[in-house]
Amino acid sequence: MRTALIHSDAYKRFDYGREHPLRMERLGLTFGLMDAYGLTRLPGTEVLPPAPAPEAALREFHTDEYIAVLRAAGVGEAVPEAYRYGLGPGDNPIWPGVYEASALACGGSILAAELVARGDVARAFAFAGGLHHAMPARASGFCYLNDAVLAILALRRHGLRVAYVDIDAHHGDGVQAAFYRSADVLTISTHERGDRLFPGTGAVEEMGEGPGRGYAVNLPLNPYTDDAVYLDAFDAVVPPVLRAFGADVVVAQLGIDGHRTDPLTHLALSVDGFAAAVQRILELAPRLVALGGGGYDLSNVARAWTAAWALMNGVTLPPALPPAFVVDAAPYLGGRRTLWDAPPVLPLEAVRPAREFAERQVAELRRRVFPLLGVPTSGA
Ligand SMILES: [Zn+2]
Repeated sequence: MRTALIHSDAYKRFDYGREHPLRMERLGLTFGLMDAYGLTRLPGTEVLPPAPAPEAALREFHTDEYIAVLRAAGVGEAVPEAYRYGLGPGDNPIWPGVYEASALACGGSILAAELVARGDVARAFAFAGGLHHAMPARASGFCYLNDAVLAILALRRHGLRVAYVDIDAHHGDGVQAAFYRSADVLTISTHERGDRLFPGTGAVEEMGEGPGRGYAVNLPLNPYTDDAVYLDAFDAVVPPVLRAFGADVVVAQLGIDGHRTDPLTHLALSVDGFAAAVQRILELAPRLVALGGGGYDLSNVARAWTAAWALMNGVTLPPALPPAFVVDAAPYLGGRRTLWDAPPVLPLEAVRPAREFAERQVAELRRRVFPLLGVPTSGA
């Protein structure tokens, strides 16, 4: 099976700002770990640098006005009423190159989609992408341009039926909104419940509108959801829904901010649980466009996306991190020396409500959404 890894060194030049939780270093760190494991030199794999998406490609989802504003902001021009576009101090600061870097992520994700759509590769991973919160005329949640939507639209232009599976800790609201009235694109998002975490949406009741009714699937989760709770809920929802939909290609947003050490969220996954979810997605996806996403403990980002890329290539990695990487990445590793995590130890009084909450959401999805998609609900 041929695969492609989309990576650019250019991200080194960009910075959201010293205090911002989204660290561009995570991309170089991830590529460094993939490289140290030999995963950038596999037979059948290409490592390709993206080009920035041209403005015409961005216009497929974003408004002309917003593109012009973002472009001006990125070269230091004053933007009146920047807050109207979600820009300014806080989540979506204006920084030098913000347009260039965002367009580059879009170019990478579109390239991954084109390679897969043309049949050049069966799986492509653009881990700088997955910026799932960006809206047509507004930045949101550290995301300025929505590469995930643009990748899906590229696949749609090839006539492919697309399922989007988002395992980031935050609801994939921008992607859901883009296809909320479409039956040609199924969106599935698992995430921490919206009354506990940004962006506040992603309840079970959000299930699409008009012809798209049933084609938005949301599985919210309680704080302290651990691997076992997560995977049980995932298995109850994602495989049957994907099978019923019958996608030609899956676009997966692989945010790793659901990890138990992530500073921004309250889920309790490990790299092991994340990788188990990725493996399930691989088994369900005839073809795969994988994107990155959130992840604010940098050692988790590097380990999780390296593990995901190994799975995409059918490679089993030695669990000990390569010694040279341990030295180079020491400031980010917090003493970690293994690819995998020790099993989580959570108090039962934290896990029990998480399990009960997940089971209630699954039951609601079975009742409300499964019939709309023709998912068999009887039996096991
Ligand atoms: Zn996130």
